[in-house]
Amino acid sequence: MREYLKFYIGGQWVDPAESSTLEVVNPATEKVCGTVASGSPADVDRAVAAARDAFSSWSATSREERLTILRNILTEYQNRMGDLAAALTEEMGAPNALANGFQVNLGAGHLTTAIDALENFVFEEQQGDSLIVKEPIGVCGLITPWNWPISLIAVKVFPALATGCTMVLKPSEKSPFTGQIFTEILDAAGVPAGVFNLVQGDGPTVGAALSAHPGVDMISFTGSTRAGIDIATNAAPGVKRVSQELGGKSPNIILDDGDFAENVAKGVATMMMNSGQTCSAPSRMLVPNSRMAEAISAAQEAASQVTVGDPGGDSAIGPVVSEAQFEKIQSLIDKGIGEGATLVAGGLGRPDDLPTGYYVRPTVFADVTNNMTIAREEIFGPVLTILGYDNIDDAIDIANDTEYGLAGFVAGADLEQARAVARRIRAGSVAINDGFDFAAPFGGYKKSGNGREWGGFGFHDYLEIKGMLGYT
Ligand code: NAD
Repeated sequence: MREYLKFYIGGQWVDPAESSTLEVVNPATEKVCGTVASGSPADVDRAVAAARDAFSSWSATSREERLTILRNILTEYQNRMGDLAAALTEEMGAPNALANGFQVNLGAGHLTTAIDALENFVFEEQQGDSLIVKEPIGVCGLITPWNWPISLIAVKVFPALATGCTMVLKPSEKSPFTGQIFTEILDAAGVPAGVFNLVQGDGPTVGAALSAHPGVDMISFTGSTRAGIDIATNAAPGVKRVSQELGGKSPNIILDDGDFAENVAKGVATMMMNSGQTCSAPSRMLVPNSRMAEAISAAQEAASQVTVGDPGGDSAIGPVVSEAQFEKIQSLIDKGIGEGATLVAGGLGRPDDLPTGYYVRPTVFADVTNNMTIAREEIFGPVLTILGYDNIDDAIDIANDTEYGLAGFVAGADLEQARAVARRIRAGSVAINDGFDFAAPFGGYKKSGNGREWGGFGFHDYLEIKGMLGYT
């Protein structure tokens, strides 16, 4: 049983202003696995004051001083990867292989990418007689979700540190353990007092206090579109910058060439990873109508290989994060059946051998039309929808007919055609044949958000741009 009862403010582990706590439920056992202090607006006040005090000295540090700190963090992070993975498995049910693999490696990847970007980042450039200067925006409020908890903390904290900002982090109340260990890592790495501060607690209390706080200059938020709207509303009177990374319903266009069955199978595996709890998950697979039958049989085969079980073992996927999430997914599966989609794998209820734990059966619907609820709403579970298209124009229309625009995927052998399709998808990142790049920007069009994270592009959210005219 874990117990974390202190916050990290001004370089010290301190008692919260009030003695309120929150309990964390292990989604595999449905039992409480830890207690964490739950903050109040008074804790946010203290943390923001500490970040404000530290801003003048941290923002004046040189590139080399910041690089030294980031490299120290990398060493400490690498030492604690096993601890982070164990915490991830307990708090959100990530299976062993994923927790020790992609989940913690993504965090490390964001750190090494921030170090690389900082080495050469252009903070000042001359333009005619003017000097254009990029300066740290100030005190940042960082609010993160539970689904890729360590990666989504890393992708905010490291660019904020690299650009000379100070910050207050509020991790998700469902995954607070990794936030605590992350803080221990920064403390051990010698991050100066007040530069990084941690307050745990729920969204409507701590997240809202941070969003509205007059001492905070910008908010970087990753989470649901609903909470993103609340945060932007709370931040509006202060005219703060609000960078939002929100939900998605990403299309995966499988072209009519190449290894069709393999491309379908890869799409299923990517969708099911992390129990489908990925903002950019390829949840709408688009296949030629003429090949729907082939797509169904390849998807059935691939879904049958997605083992579900104890995240402490070697299953491909574990439970979903909470009972509420389990119930929401069940109701959407029910809706899909009711609206006339063809259920070709999985379905309602838990897997037979798993009566305890929030386990969802890897589910595939075919013959889905884009007006069905399961094609429009983010399900955030291991549920794939397969839609048919007549030709490329039809595929593009369906792909873009969504209120989201976070990511897109294209798979096919003809690279010229795949590139042309990728250009027409209205989304912040499009992966062609499994393309992946830590240094490329990641963020959403439309209701998927307005920020860009990852690599040097991610620095811009944390910078003000000043024109110094007649400088030369
Ligand atoms: P959530 O919006 O419920 O919570 C996210 C964070 O916001 C938590 O820390 C929560 O405490 C806080 N919060 C909630 N309400 C708040 C409020 N009114 N004011 C301030 N803070 C508030 O989301 P979640 O369930 O933790 O995560 C799932 C969602 O995150 C999905 O919609 C997913 O698509 C999205 N997501 C997006 C990205 C991306 O990069 N675009 C990445 C991962 C997850």
